[in-house]
Amino acid sequence: MPIPKAELHLHIEGTLEPELAFALAARNGVELPYADTEELRKAYLFDDLQTFLNLYYGLMAVLRTEADFEELADAYLARAAAQGVRHAEIFFDPQAHVVRGVPIGTVIEGLSRALERSQERHGVSTRLIMCFLRDQSAESALETLEAAKPYLDRIIGVGLDSAEVGHPPVKFREVYEAAAALGLRLVAHAGEEGPPAYITEALDVLRVERIDHGLRCMEDPELVERLARDRVPLTLCPLSNVRLRAIDVLEEHPLARMLDAGLMCTVNSDDPAYFGGYVDDTFHAVREALGIDHERLRTLARNSFEASFLDRDAADEALRAKYLAEVEAYSFD
Ligand SMILES: [Zn+2]
Repeated sequence: MPIPKAELHLHIEGTLEPELAFALAARNGVELPYADTEELRKAYLFDDLQTFLNLYYGLMAVLRTEADFEELADAYLARAAAQGVRHAEIFFDPQAHVVRGVPIGTVIEGLSRALERSQERHGVSTRLIMCFLRDQSAESALETLEAAKPYLDRIIGVGLDSAEVGHPPVKFREVYEAAAALGLRLVAHAGEEGPPAYITEALDVLRVERIDHGLRCMEDPELVERLARDRVPLTLCPLSNVRLRAIDVLEEHPLARMLDAGLMCTVNSDDPAYFGGYVDDTFHAVREALGIDHERLRTLARNSFEASFLDRDAADEALRAKYLAEVEAYSFD
């Protein structure tokens, strides 16, 4: 059994495996430009960002109904449970669906159905985080937040994702202020392909609690010091960094150096159907490639629960304490 862990950086759209893509395409009468799952699986072996984005957004065409989103999330949660995930804070991209004519309510209701059953069915507690696409306008993000208002009881926070360079955090100051005023928790992708200054801006201007990715902080020693001192969680995704060429090979990933620097790192899978592994696969990969030993894997698991949003009430705190006890009691042999 893999070590218990929380997954804090996971895009539900990035869990669409070829088999489910074909099943949903057949159900919805959507034609895919691939002969079969075999050919589609080969297309998943892209090696640059644009090819990935074309495939990623192209395949979303198969997601149309509440049942589709429910099935997608349920399939992820089953896989996650098998990888030792006990708690998942799941991203979704409403703008990518609304633009295709799928209402935000369909997306949220469908995902929620799977999430509400998850504890009982898979033993995985869940939260939902709504992301804004940063390459879309600030107005579009504000409209998305407005459209989500009837569903805020299902959403714990907001995030910011998609192509980073040229879209600094400050562009979304207003929508983050509005989200905070609604009681939503705040996270943002920063310092993946964008510069360390985007991380500082996400902290100071957007006032986020966690940085998604953030590996480029290593280029700015003062920022590293600040992140370590304030214990700002970083949700790293090492396999994603290799596939999207943020780094050349896993052996060059800064994770070990980041842990040495006292940063509060977590390890996550990002878009696991596309990046060659789910979260425990990632734990194994960093162990092999970077020599991350068992006690540091335990630290990563502990960090994942400590960085989670399981802190709103006594029930949350009790659940988190239970998970942390499982981490401490875990034996690697
Ligand atoms: Zn991501």
